[in-house]
Amino acid sequence: MAMPSLRVRRHRLPLWALVLTVVAVALPVLATSRAQGAATGCTVTYTTNEWSGGFTAQIRVTNLGPALNGWRLEWTYGGDQQVTSAWNAQVTQSGSAVTAVNAAHNAALAAGGTVDFGLQGTWRTADRAPTAFALNGAPCGGTASPTPTPTPTTPAECAGAGATICSDFEDQTGTVPSGDWQTTAPDCQGTGKVVVDTSVAYSGTRSLRVDGGAGYCNHVFAASTRDLSSVGPVVYVRMRVRHTTTLPTGHVTFVSMPDASQGGRALRVGGQNGALQWNRESDDATLPEQSPAGVALSTPLATGRWLCLRYQIDTTAQSMRTWVDDQEVAGLHVDGVPTQNVDGQWLARRTPPRPTALRLGWESYGTGDDTLWFDDVALGSSPIGC
Ligand code: CA
Repeated sequence: MAMPSLRVRRHRLPLWALVLTVVAVALPVLATSRAQGAATGCTVTYTTNEWSGGFTAQIRVTNLGPALNGWRLEWTYGGDQQVTSAWNAQVTQSGSAVTAVNAAHNAALAAGGTVDFGLQGTWRTADRAPTAFALNGAPCGGTASPTPTPTPTTPAECAGAGATICSDFEDQTGTVPSGDWQTTAPDCQGTGKVVVDTSVAYSGTRSLRVDGGAGYCNHVFAASTRDLSSVGPVVYVRMRVRHTTTLPTGHVTFVSMPDASQGGRALRVGGQNGALQWNRESDDATLPEQSPAGVALSTPLATGRWLCLRYQIDTTAQSMRTWVDDQEVAGLHVDGVPTQNVDGQWLARRTPPRPTALRLGWESYGTGDDTLWFDDVALGSSPIGC
């Protein structure tokens, strides 16, 4: 299928620099704005992923004023963009005027702090870049300068103190995963690599980088050392993941959980036919079913930016749900009632999954390779937000 191409609009800067600013903007912007002496209350980077008739935008706001408890970002569209959905903020639109208000979980915005949210929309004849950003009524300065330096450290947000895994990888000291994470190549070892990366991160300065190769023997994972056997009855997982390459046609996996209900074989999150999917190793059941109609009920994954992947697995009934950037994926939903093209195959097994461990990496079964990153990984018995 035709994939949206990454474009950053209305910037007179090289593409590579702007891509870097998506993850690395706040502190340098602060410094730049002060150096220019602009009386700004904020800076904003607005980065789009655009295709004919549609777009998504990732918006990062840096607060240059005093700390805020509750924030409102306003802007004006220069084209005929129409916002259709949003995540991590509530977004309303009147004509070309748009207002984004904080979500419950990100209302607090410290002095010098940043907040990210995203939206999806449509356009017909023009999608000129937005202007006139204002934060709680105070005009914002221009878009970001492209200095590729790390984002400020913010700890991973996990669900209270009860999370079994809560890892932002900032405690990693070398390039080889250590402590709570161990490299594993469960089947055979080839060219796949997993390292702690200090150049790309969602939070702080560190993340897990996976260079996954095509071909069975290039499997590689960083496995959490935590035993998940007693997490539940519902296992909640949230992670940030950033892909370089679109999900391939061939079957691949990037999250693998050994599952006691399959004799230790894995419950796997990955892709097939270009869309996100679940796969059960023991019987190769997929969610959704890989019919064209089933695949259409899932979603491709954007590349070149951090996604928030969340899912929940009930260990007492056949019930699973999956979200990407807070949008639930209809084709990745098991609720015990068979849905055509979705979970018929999955429900052929009555025993619910019992994940016992979490592995992040890359597993190809033929074609398909990628370089991807993981950050802010959380897993526990309570819901975890993006
Ligand atoms: Ca991190």
